[in-house]
Amino acid sequence: MQHSDEVNVHLSEQEQEMIEILMEDLELPSTDDVIRLLVKQEAQRIAVVCPSCGHYARKTQQDVASCNSCLSIINLSEGIWEVSQMRKQS
Ligand SMILES: [Zn+2]
Repeated sequence: MQHSDEVNVHLSEQEQEMIEILMEDLELPSTDDVIRLLVKQEAQRIAVVCPSCGHYARKTQQDVASCNSCLSIINLSEGIWEVSQMRKQS
């Protein structure tokens, strides 16, 4: 039985080795945990969680992001991401 959002990645021997090193270094129990952590870290580098709808909003500039889900423009102000402009639904 497979879960619908399960991701099966075929890893090369070298990739498997890299993951094993990361598992050891990050003290994570499984390959899945390593992948989850890395995906999260990378996503956070280029996107922020939209304060308006909770979806990921892609950064368009260092301190500006735009959400494709609710079309909000999010600005970084004093270390906090805030919705500066929300498209009104008519
Ligand atoms: Zn949003």
